[in-house]
Amino acid sequence: MTADPDYEKGHPQLAQVAIQQGTLLAHNLRHLYKKHPLEPFRYVNKGSMAIIAKYKAVVDLPKGFFKGFFAWMVWLFIHLIPIAGFRNKVKLFFSWSWSFLTNDPTLRLIIRPRKNIFLQTVQKPNKIIQGFI
Ligand SMILES: Cc1cc2nc3c(=O)[nH]c(=O)nc-3n(C[C@H](O)[C@H](O)[C@H](O)COP(=O)(O)OP(=O)(O)OC[C@H]3O[C@@H](n4cnc5c(N)ncnc54)[C@H](O)[C@@H]3O)c2cc1C
Repeated sequence: MTADPDYEKGHPQLAQVAIQQGTLLAHNLRHLYKKHPLEPFRYVNKGSMAIIAKYKAVVDLPKGFFKGFFAWMVWLFIHLIPIAGFRNKVKLFFSWSWSFLTNDPTLRLIIRPRKNIFLQTVQKPNKIIQGFI
């Protein structure tokens, strides 16, 4: 539950929410110091985007949607710009370039369903216990 009428059941777990909350926190700390009333958090949805493959992304803005190569370029640009400092931008750019050239899958997760041992234990308690003994 939140005090934000547009997101009563909670905010999406996105960086934009964290950034906006951080900005409001700084603002409210100044208010607290000056003994002014605090302001509640209202999330402003600026849209969301995701890379789905090499050269492909989706961009979902409050007033439109686009995908494909242009969306991929927009994703790269938007994520590079807020990185603090020129040196960090260059480091990130080279890191991305390396991953792009080598198809480095370090950050991709492939999750396959496994047999649920706890479920087996509940359904067939004797069999599981015998198996361990
Ligand atoms: C795999 C993954 C992919 C994601 N992809 C996206 C995405 O594509 N787009 C998007 O918008 N969001 C994405 N998110 C979510 C986004 O990363 C989070 O919403 C955002 O980082 C939250 O920011 P934060 O500042 O609240 O927390 P964090 O970024 O987690 O920062 C908290 C910091 O506090 C430090 N810390 C924790 N405990 C202590 C302590 N006791 N003392 C000192 N320091 C401490 C941590 O080390 C960390 O640096 C993703 C998250 C994950 C895990």
